[in-house]
Amino acid sequence: MSITIKSPSGREIKFSTGLFINNEFRPSKSNNVLTTPNPATGEDLATVSAATAEDVDDAVQAARRAFVTTWGKKSTPSQRSAALHKWADLIQENIDTLAELESLDNGKPVWMARDIDIVDSIDCLRYYAGLADKIEGRTIEQEEGRKIAFTRPEPIGVCGQIIPWNYPIQMFAWKVGAALAAGNTIIMKPAEQTPLSALVLAELSIKAGFPPGVINIVNGLGSVAGRAISSHMDIDKIAFTGSTITGRSIMESAAKSNLKKVTLELGGKSPVVVFENADIDQAVNWVSQGILFNHGQDCCAGSRLFLQESIKEEFLSKLKKNFESHVIGDPFDIKTYQGPQVSKQQQEKILSYIKSGIEQGATLLTGGEARIAHLSSKFKNGFYTPPTIFTDCKPGMKIVDEEIFGPVLTVQTFETEEEAIEKANNTPYGLGAGVFSQNASQCMRMVHALCAGTVWCNQYVALSNAVPFGGMKQSGFGRELGIEGLKEYTQTKSVHWNYGEKADWPVDGTSN
Ligand code: ADP
Repeated sequence: MSITIKSPSGREIKFSTGLFINNEFRPSKSNNVLTTPNPATGEDLATVSAATAEDVDDAVQAARRAFVTTWGKKSTPSQRSAALHKWADLIQENIDTLAELESLDNGKPVWMARDIDIVDSIDCLRYYAGLADKIEGRTIEQEEGRKIAFTRPEPIGVCGQIIPWNYPIQMFAWKVGAALAAGNTIIMKPAEQTPLSALVLAELSIKAGFPPGVINIVNGLGSVAGRAISSHMDIDKIAFTGSTITGRSIMESAAKSNLKKVTLELGGKSPVVVFENADIDQAVNWVSQGILFNHGQDCCAGSRLFLQESIKEEFLSKLKKNFESHVIGDPFDIKTYQGPQVSKQQQEKILSYIKSGIEQGATLLTGGEARIAHLSSKFKNGFYTPPTIFTDCKPGMKIVDEEIFGPVLTVQTFETEEEAIEKANNTPYGLGAGVFSQNASQCMRMVHALCAGTVWCNQYVALSNAVPFGGMKQSGFGRELGIEGLKEYTQTKSVHWNYGEKADWPVDGTSN
């Protein structure tokens, strides 16, 4: 049940391809499999086991057993912290292997996978390792010498975690870090487009000392394994990151099954507002990164740019130059900023949005097929898309209203602050928003006015494991990261304690 992939750097990457249940790799009981391609070449990369509902059920039973017998009810906070720290150490030791595997499976440049995704994931596990022994309740005074009440934050139980393909390792770390620190056991389902890195993480988790059943990883299709998780009667909570449409269906399954708790981090169409008093060169860099980083495959990508009319010409000419300076190509080349999109389906979707932008009357400032025409024959069948800027955009255009999840920026202009606020908030989403202004009062007014879970001032997509992240409106609810992220994996038990010497009920009104 293992495979060896030889990476373009010559590294031999060996890993198990089975379902990871109870600290063992095994095939699906129905021998179901799925094949993942290398997005840079379009060629098949690996075939792994894919779970059915029966396999998911086995994983849930293992997780339940572990919750009751070891991790949830019997472990100490410092044991949980030690295992998370050890896991982080092992990931650090294997960082090059993981980065190359992630790049081969996802398409992102190796340096990005290594220096951003994995470095951040290691930090995230350590952050939650540090919080494991800081989960505290409150005492609430009732009656001096006789009665007291206190709260106990307890783990929720068995948690289903369904993650997307844009940051496979990071989304994994965000979800497992908080869940495991709080004493939950988990069933993780990676996205079918990027099933591989989770299998290496699974192997390392055994070495880190997690008892069997604490971490279970079931690759598989959303429509099969994902559905089996969201509708399972013995999963207590589901945490999901992905599209709004899938989030809706998960919430529906949760409601129709056992009313499991749900947290959702969904899509976005985040606005970035640049005022005329901004540091233009800085803003150009951030705006570009905000949409092009990770090939635009980012739920909080700044995909709607709003420029104050007076700076439009200067800003756009600098932004165009910036977009055209990025190297697109081989993910194993250190100079590459943009590799392929994750899948043929995503590539086609993005290209169809670009076509619709042109058809609906937006002006193509840069992008289009010519931008990726230089790709060498090795990458001709890769899932590449051009970094694209559309100006003259307005609501009603599909490129303005809908999440594209690719390197496509739409530009609108405004005259006044009020107009900028109104235009920026004109979306059903509310994940992120950016403001560029050197006037601190103006920034703060915008922070108040923008409806988004995170507002970045004079920067964009800065994230920290200590700072909560999540959506408003149809971008979801619940928070990941920070102390708030940990709290999503605990539930409060209240205890009323009558400890007086004569601890009885005052039935006759005198014994109180
Ligand atoms: P995308 O459309 O970009 O692939 P999705 O939201 O569909 O994004 O996928 C994110 C994650 O949700 C993946 O792990 C996928 O397998 C899973 N998923 C998709 N459909 C369902 C579903 N109906 N129930 C549960 N999980 C699902």
